[in-house]
Amino acid sequence: MAGVTLSVARTLDRCAVLGPGVRAVIWVQGCPLRCRGCVAAETLPFDGGTVHPVAELGDWLCGLPGIEGVTLSGGEPFAQPEALAALLDHVRSRRPDFTAMAYSGFRYEALLRGAPERLALLRRLDLLVDGPYVASAQHGLRWRGSSNQRLVALTGRYTQVGTEQDTSAGVELTVEADGSLSWAGVPPTPGFREGLEERLAARGFVLRTETGREA
Ligand code: SF4
Repeated sequence: MAGVTLSVARTLDRCAVLGPGVRAVIWVQGCPLRCRGCVAAETLPFDGGTVHPVAELGDWLCGLPGIEGVTLSGGEPFAQPEALAALLDHVRSRRPDFTAMAYSGFRYEALLRGAPERLALLRRLDLLVDGPYVASAQHGLRWRGSSNQRLVALTGRYTQVGTEQDTSAGVELTVEADGSLSWAGVPPTPGFREGLEERLAARGFVLRTETGREA
């Protein structure tokens, strides 16, 4: 794994609105898709973000107290499958019970038929949210931006999610160390981010121009 790196848009130590329980979140940088209304436009270029050694990210995850796993978002996690598979292997060598959830703009069936590297990442996940964001199908669902996206349980860890209440988990606002505000979560309605930015600006707050989560 030495020398393996991941291009990252943003990380978050704790989040309770992007998957089961309390989780760390890694928003990767770069997505080959262009869903109309994507709320994470700043994560789309592959030449942005910050490059981190996978070992460094793994050590960070292992050192976080009180989380049950990580959510991989973006950007498109399956555009960097080898690095993310290596990251999960690194963490699970020390924390075998560490869970992994990922978002993807690709359908589950397409990932199954895809490149071996993508299949290798898929096989390391417990939960997948699949498919592109479709603004006209945004209905305030839990952890998903639009109703075409599915919660696919890939192991026995999260099979209950399909039977639980399917309403928006909301969003979380965080005051960063430099005093700026950032947010995480799946917007419950189209235009949510723009409205939030306007309301905060009216009160003198500036929202960090980083991703929340692909809507
Ligand atoms: S919604 Fe997701 S898959 Fe679609 S363009 Fe944005 S980051 Fe890519």
